[in-house]
Order: sequence, then structure tokens, then C-alpha cells
Amino acid sequence: MEYKGLDVIGKMYPELRDNVEKLRQYIKGAGLTTGDLIDIQHAAASTMISEAQLRQIFDIGVELGLFTRMYRLQCSIHGGFICEQNEPFDLSHPIFCDLCGEEHEFTQYDVCEAYRIDVIL
Ligand SMILES: [Zn+2]
Repeated sequence: MEYKGLDVIGKMYPELRDNVEKLRQYIKGAGLTTGDLIDIQHAAASTMISEAQLRQIFDIGVELGLFTRMYRLQCSIHGGFICEQNEPFDLSHPIFCDLCGEEHEFTQYDVCEAYRIDVIL
């Protein structure tokens, strides 16, 4: 039987069920699968769920082992993502940027929050 992680969240928190269902449709519609990253801002804009509410669902999912919280670093000069990791970036020193081919400074505004799908949803 397929493990339906999002159903577990909907059962544990009935008040979140509507948003969980919207999130499921989003994941399905976007063709996201295990190992893919869900960008919280994009997901919020697409599902019309507030970022705070989405974060609540994802944080429950992190505890259940469905998702891993990820941090993505974006180059504000070229506008692309250069790296991602599962802990906050140390922005106190320059970081090598693949897109620019050199080290430069990043700020907290260059860090995007995302969640990696760790199971089949
Ligand atoms: Zn750069």
C-alpha cells in the first residue's frame, strides 16, 4: 500500500485538511516527486495558502519525516540558485558563486526557504 503522508497530517489536524488537500493538488499539478524541493513562496502564491499556514503544515511534515527543511542561496546579480543545504547559511563571509565565478557577499534576502520531499506523497 502506498504511504500517503499528507493524509496523516489531515487526520491529525482536521482544521488543516482543506489546506493539505490544496497542497496535495499543487504537488500533483507541479509534478513534484521524492527529492524535489517545494519553494514556499511559489507554493503559497499557487495555492493561495498563506506562507505561515504552509509553514505550519510543512513543519508538521518535517516532524513526521515527510519533508526536510532546506535553505537555498540565490545570486541577486544573476537571479539563479547556486546551492542548497539543510542548515542556515553562514552569511558573515563571502561565498563562492558559480554564476558569477567568484566569491561575493550574500544577505538574508538571498536565502529562500524550501522543503524537500522525502517520501512518496
Ligand atoms: Zn553571484
